[in-house]
Amino acid sequence: MSLRAVKGMKDILPDEISKWHRLERAFRDRVEGYGFREARFPIVEPTALFVRTIGETTDIVEKEMYTFTDRGDKSLTLRPEGTASAVRAYVQHSVQGREPVTKWYYIGPMYRRERPAKGRYRQFYQAGIEVFGDPGPYIDAEVIDMVVGFIASLGITEVEVLVNSIGGAATRQNYTAALLAYLEPHRDELCADCQRRMDANPLRVLDCKVPRCVEIAADAPPILKHLTDDDRAHFDRLQEALTKLGTPYRIVGSLVRGLDYYTGTLFEVLGKGEGLGAQNALLGGGRYDQLVKSLGGPDTPAIGFAMGLERLLMAMPEVESESHVDVFVVAAQPTVRAEAALLGRELRETGLRVESDLRGGSLKSQLRRADKMNTRIAMILGESEVAAGAVQLKDLRAQKQHTVFRKEAAKRAHEILAG
Ligand code: ATP
Ligand code: MG
Repeated sequence: MSLRAVKGMKDILPDEISKWHRLERAFRDRVEGYGFREARFPIVEPTALFVRTIGETTDIVEKEMYTFTDRGDKSLTLRPEGTASAVRAYVQHSVQGREPVTKWYYIGPMYRRERPAKGRYRQFYQAGIEVFGDPGPYIDAEVIDMVVGFIASLGITEVEVLVNSIGGAATRQNYTAALLAYLEPHRDELCADCQRRMDANPLRVLDCKVPRCVEIAADAPPILKHLTDDDRAHFDRLQEALTKLGTPYRIVGSLVRGLDYYTGTLFEVLGKGEGLGAQNALLGGGRYDQLVKSLGGPDTPAIGFAMGLERLLMAMPEVESESHVDVFVVAAQPTVRAEAALLGRELRETGLRVESDLRGGSLKSQLRRADKMNTRIAMILGESEVAAGAVQLKDLRAQKQHTVFRKEAAKRAHEILAG
């Protein structure tokens, strides 16, 4: 039996990686432009962290977590998302004592045992941000505007921004009563999970994917009608700010999202273009004003979002991939192979990316490799060039070749690459 990667987990090989690098670099540049700093958290956390934050009646905790017992007796879980770890770390390191507002970002793999499909994997990557200490609503608008601008910068133009508010505890309490009154006559039509959810956490019914439950949820009374005055004012200010920033959005009263820790503002960005298929949610986020406190920290309002990188890559337009090398050094005779290695090092010291085939081989076969790699420049070194302190510099795109002084070879290469 041959060994293969675990179902739903993919290798990302070098041919694909330049797209990933481009995406990750664009994300870092964008969020650092708003004052976010990177944090890295362990991939494995105590199981209780996710049960207590994401919520016992959510899909993730009920059926999707990779949980195992450590060699001792500890229950550990591969992280299904990043916010729980961020909050744990924020509390553990008493970050609130150092700064009134904390802005973190992260990029890394997440694990959920879902049914694999296009755009849905068991190991997938998320990039996300968290802001601690700002109650909004202006930061809510800025975060939404930031991520919408980021997605547009990737060339993804067909998107839809959905926003909603589920308010704080008082709103939820009012609403739960109204929701239960609506659901009760439909109890028998709901799936078994939802019947349980009605007793444990009625809001979760609105997030069910079973078709009949979706139909019933569609006619449920909207939570927006039950917002307290404060929650309503927050939501109104958020909308004004989004309008001011010119960020288009659509209010979707049924948006509740699949994690229990959310309060107030919720948002999601859907990709509308082809290529995504059914898994078209590019990102989701919202406020979680009670979470820091619930993990033993001080009362700290917070907001964040997480994006699925695979889905962003699927939605991004194809661009021609660039070569991963700038210069291919060719040794014309076996006698100059060590000299070719030295030339390679000289060139790299000026910042060029250089490869050569130090196994040797014919001039032709070495040039063929340079061509295959889509390298822009070949530098050919033979015994006569070494004697003359020169190299043959060949621009493989322009198909032009001339002799240059070795001292000036790097400078010439940089000029050609700069166009
Ligand atoms: P979905 O409704 O697609 O299951 P979700 O509500 O479970 O998404 P979140 O937990 O909010 O998603 O995660 C944020 C983003 O992470 C999603 O919008 C999506 O882009 C991505 N994501 C979530 N689960 C997966 C997965 N199994 N494979 C790939 N990407 C995923
Ligand atoms: Mg999901």
